Amino acid sequence: MPPTTVPAYIDGRFRESGSDEREEIFDPSTGEVIALLPYSTADEVEAAIRAARAAAPAWADTPVPDRAAVMFRFKQLLEDDFEELARLVTRENGKTLDESRGEVRRAIEVVDFACGAPTMLMGTNLDQIADGIDEELVRFPVGVVAGISPFNFPNMVPLWMIPIALVCGNTFVLKPSQRTPLSAIRLAELLEQAGLPPGTFNVVHGAKQTVDALLTHPGVDAVSFVGSAQVASYIYATGAAHGKRVQALGGAKNHLVVMDDADPERTVSSLVSSAFGNAGQRCLAGSVAVPVGGIGDELVAALKDRVEGLRVGPGSDPSTEMGPVIRDERRKELVSYVEEGIEAGAQPVTDGRSLIRSEGFYLGPTVFDHVTPDMRLWKDELFGPILSVVRAADIDEALRVVNSSTYGNAASIFTSSGANAREFRRRVEAGMVGINIGIAAPMAFFPFTGWKNSFFGDLHATGADAWRFYTRHKVVTSRWWTGGGFDAAAPEGRGH
Ligand code: NAD
Repeated sequence: MPPTTVPAYIDGRFRESGSDEREEIFDPSTGEVIALLPYSTADEVEAAIRAARAAAPAWADTPVPDRAAVMFRFKQLLEDDFEELARLVTRENGKTLDESRGEVRRAIEVVDFACGAPTMLMGTNLDQIADGIDEELVRFPVGVVAGISPFNFPNMVPLWMIPIALVCGNTFVLKPSQRTPLSAIRLAELLEQAGLPPGTFNVVHGAKQTVDALLTHPGVDAVSFVGSAQVASYIYATGAAHGKRVQALGGAKNHLVVMDDADPERTVSSLVSSAFGNAGQRCLAGSVAVPVGGIGDELVAALKDRVEGLRVGPGSDPSTEMGPVIRDERRKELVSYVEEGIEAGAQPVTDGRSLIRSEGFYLGPTVFDHVTPDMRLWKDELFGPILSVVRAADIDEALRVVNSSTYGNAASIFTSSGANAREFRRRVEAGMVGINIGIAAPMAFFPFTGWKNSFFGDLHATGADAWRFYTRHKVVTSRWWTGGGFDAAAPEGRGH
């Protein structure tokens, strides 16, 4: 099949861009080019922002239950298209079909959450805050929201943003990852079918230049970003400098602390699925295992045993347990981390380079023992199927290792001791904490609470934070006099 050209979606129309700048979209499992993505021109980005601005007043005035009704219909369309949506994620991202199904399921949960808008958008009020005076807090939309998303969850991460932003009465311009734009366009089709008015939701394409146009445009009021830490920090600073409300979710280096009282079998399964699910390309992926006390050798042997048995292959094959990474350049970067780790003295327990083949962007699961915090293997977010083991003498040392990371997205402890779990939960410097859970992902009704370089902003994605991020408050203070009117009688005829 010849590659298709990916359109943008502007003001209710799917349009092929006039731009010559094009990105090739690959099927990572074969390396085959499946689509061509023209980057939107400056004029096209401008048209999308204008369309969103023009649609904003009518959408903001649409009654909340009617906005929620669009989300109910959208949810049903996502359910009806569930399997196809999952296949599309596997096709453009490479993850296994089961992982894609999990992604689409998590995404639909956000739409579910958005359907509760009539309850969630209620304000608060207090009668009689002073004699004869009442006060109420009312929520209004922020305006036009720009969403910028990464490649690793092409369906779910846009849907962390879109349903709640829209149901709050905002209009939206999405700039999906230039490596995985296909799911975003499918979401636009389904939102249109759900009855969203033209201009309310738009999709433009590109990389830094397109993002910069959104970040600096006076017609954009708020920016939701998910991606790497360096870009998140840039987005936060630039968006804020241009007067926008910004939430910017960044990268991660998640630690999995294993105490000597942990359940060995279930802990090892959790570690393997955390580190190698999605080929390690998850912001909640476990990247460092920290065995505590004398269990290091036993844990490493069990990891080796389990990891060597992982079936690596195309995500569309139901027997596959780990798919490829997103691009050949990414794989090359990961291989250079492996080479550098060996030179620095880390000990490879399994070496994923043995699974590199000419077709597809595969790198096998790699485990390194005896990694130390001075190595780049420990410091950097690798975002691939590489797990480092850093040994610690006790829980204090384990917490020192975890807390010295510049990232603070997630951290987990495996233990059967409530005292250890409590100590960890209180002292660990990470926003998402797992206790005998390797991927501590909050559900849609909780916020996604990264700390340190894993998040720039105040209000996180999803949960109660999202309703606040996508609305502006007014506090109305009111007093009603009885009687009155300029032609009324004497002042003593009036109330307060
Ligand atoms: P990325 O930062 O390269 O790209 C993310 C988005 O930013 C893309 O749309 C891209 O086009 C744009 N972008 C890239 N460079 C830019 C620049 N210099 N200026 C402006 N915009 C730019 O991230 P990625 O490789 O697509 O995704 C992987 C990263 O996302 C990992 O670091 C991962 O941890 C992170 N991530 C974080 C979360 C979270 O919740 N914290 C969730 C998913 C992914």
